Parts: sequence; structure tokens; C-alpha cells
Amino acid sequence: MLALDAKAVLSGWQPRSHQLKVAGLAEFAAGAVPLERMVLDLRQQASGPDLSALTGMPWAGFLIDHGGHAPAGRPWLSLQGDPRTMRAGDVVELQPLTSKVAVRYRRGGNGNVLFATERCNSYCLMCSQPPRAIEDDWRLMQLFELVELIDREEASLAISGGEPTLMGEGLPHLIGHCAQQLPKTNLHVLSNGRTFADARYAERFRVLHPALSWGIPLYGDHFALHDYVVQRAGAFAETLRGLYALEGSGQRIEIRVVLVRPTVERLVDLARFICRNLPFVEHVALMGIEPIGFAKANHKTLWIDPIDMAAALTEAVEYLADRGIPVSIYNLPLCTLPEAIWSYAQRSISDWKQDYLPACAGCAVKDRCGGFFSWVNQDWQSRAIVPIMQIEGAE
Ligand code: SF4
Repeated sequence: MLALDAKAVLSGWQPRSHQLKVAGLAEFAAGAVPLERMVLDLRQQASGPDLSALTGMPWAGFLIDHGGHAPAGRPWLSLQGDPRTMRAGDVVELQPLTSKVAVRYRRGGNGNVLFATERCNSYCLMCSQPPRAIEDDWRLMQLFELVELIDREEASLAISGGEPTLMGEGLPHLIGHCAQQLPKTNLHVLSNGRTFADARYAERFRVLHPALSWGIPLYGDHFALHDYVVQRAGAFAETLRGLYALEGSGQRIEIRVVLVRPTVERLVDLARFICRNLPFVEHVALMGIEPIGFAKANHKTLWIDPIDMAAALTEAVEYLADRGIPVSIYNLPLCTLPEAIWSYAQRSISDWKQDYLPACAGCAVKDRCGGFFSWVNQDWQSRAIVPIMQIEGAE
């Protein structure tokens, strides 16, 4: 796991935060970002060619090794943690007042997120990012800046929160900005879908970005079950109205189902419900729980060992697949799944928070297995975890 932030020594910077792209020679040559919005990586250049012409240019500042030298009179920083935390192409936020650096975009990462807001209108039992009722509309301008610094070739980005639709008009503005800056990037917005019960809001997203899709959670085939999991009366009805409104506005929709115990108890019914009532969705993701945030406080209510959901999971997966709805399993290790459904399992955990256990050493399918969230502990580990020594059919 490579951390997303680090302590740093920062010198010569204005006290406000600075969002900047890390530049190597390739970023300089590409010329896609103004020099004033980049920090030049001078690490390991001590014995290299004379860079004085390059360093004389109007870079925002310089990234140097601990004990290294920056051009006189110019802002610089050096990391105190893992040097790989900042690499060429990344976008970082420098925070001089707290002597910290936070990575806001990681080149080549599989979990880059535009974090829209901390606010939410639900209060899910397993929320991994517990919401806060704060005014954080300032994030919109910061996200506009961030989008301008992200690689144009970036394959995918998520927009998440909190509940991104609580940005109101800010969300279509942000997605419209992405359409200008990142038209080839797949944008996947994670939303509870409730705001789209107002179909006029859904209509704001029609033809807004060429590669826009929505991940909307559904936790039951019955209103009482879904409303219980999200801890909001009326949420099921709003989400369903929202799903139909999004479909009506030409949006691409993924249904996301977190596999908490109450949901698993009716998982096959939920698969049937989706096929009957939401046949237009383009993907269903059945997701192991992330053991962080509210989930930790609700462990007893939520936890079900994946090995104990094998029958329901297999039936639900096959029910959806047989009816032509693409389905994937996220966040569950292969050894906890029946081999018959391994082909649906994805390596889904973002690389910065993904790990394996000591038991995984020597496992024959480690390369295919998504492993665990880095913060998994004994409470959230299946009793079925055991290295797979040979794959059936392999020599
Ligand atoms: S032992 Fe580890 S690597 Fe192997 S399948 Fe299980 S969780 Fe995955």
C-alpha cells in the first residue's frame, strides 16, 4: 500500500494550499500544463546534467531529496516519508501550514477520485466515509483546478463523496468541465440516486459527457430492507424513481450492492427484482464490505463470512448473468468464493488501500486475487482464507 499523504519540509511557499502537478522531463516536454502549475522533480539529479536553464524557468517550485539543493530563492519541498508518494504525473496538494503533502491524483492509479462533498442525505449502516453536515462548496473550485492537472489520457475517474448530487448545479458544472478537459476519461459517479427523484435534475446530465456512468446502490427488493440499510425512510422509493429518471435521461447505470448480512439474506430476491424492474442497467456489482467507518460500529449487524453467502451469491450471479445483465464480484478474495464464480471476481480494491495477508504467500492465484482492504482485521476475515496451491486443470 502506497500512502496518499506524507509529511514534508516545505520552504518558501505562501501559507495557503497549492495544488500542483509533479513534473519530470516528460511533463515539461508535453507542455500540457503551464510551468507555474507544476513542481519540478529534481530528486536524484545531483550528479546529472546541468539543469540551470531548466530550473530558471517559472516553475511553482521544486521537489528535492532530503538534504538536497533547490535553486536559490525559489519554493521547494522534500518528502519525509516514502519517496514514491510523489511521482511524475501525480497531482499533489501542498499544505505548508501543516507541513503535509496529499496526493489528489495518482498517475496509473486504479482508484482516483474527485471527492465532491462530505455531506450526505443518507446514513448507511456500513458507510466507509461517514458524512458530516458541513458547508464544503469550496471543493468545487478545487476540483475544477484538479481536473485541469489530470492526465488527458487518464482512463477512469470516480466522483464520490458524501453524496455528489448535494452539490446541486455544481455537479453538472463539474462534469461539464471534465467533458472539456477529459473527454476520453470514463467518469463514474457514485450516488445514492435519491436526488434524481426530481427528473428535472436527471435531465441536467443528458449528453453532458461522452463517457459518463452512475453507480447507484440498492440493498433490497423491499422498501423496508433498503431504507433500513441506508437509515432513511422513503429512500427506496426515491432511489427507484431516480433510477427511472436517469434511464429516461439516457444515462448509463450500474447497480451496486454491498453484501451486508441483511441484504445477503434476500440477495436472490434482489437479483430477481433487478431483472424484472431494472432490466436497463448495464452492470451489477456485488461488493464485499469495506471494514472502516460506520461498518466498524455495526460489525455484528453487517458481517457475514463470504463462505456463508456462497450459495446465495452463486445463485444471484448466475440469475443475473443468465438473463443478460453483466455482473461482477468486488472486494472478495478468491479462496472465499466457489470456483464456479471466480470469473466474475474483479481486482477491485484501489491499489493504495489493497493488501494481502501472510497466508497469501505462495498462493497460486495471488495474481488474479484482489486480496483485502489494508485495514482488514480478524473481525472481518473469512475462516476460508487458505492459499490455493494448485488451480484445477493446471499442470
Ligand atoms: S490465499 Fe490470499 S491470494 Fe490466495 S485466494 Fe486467498 S486471499 Fe487471495
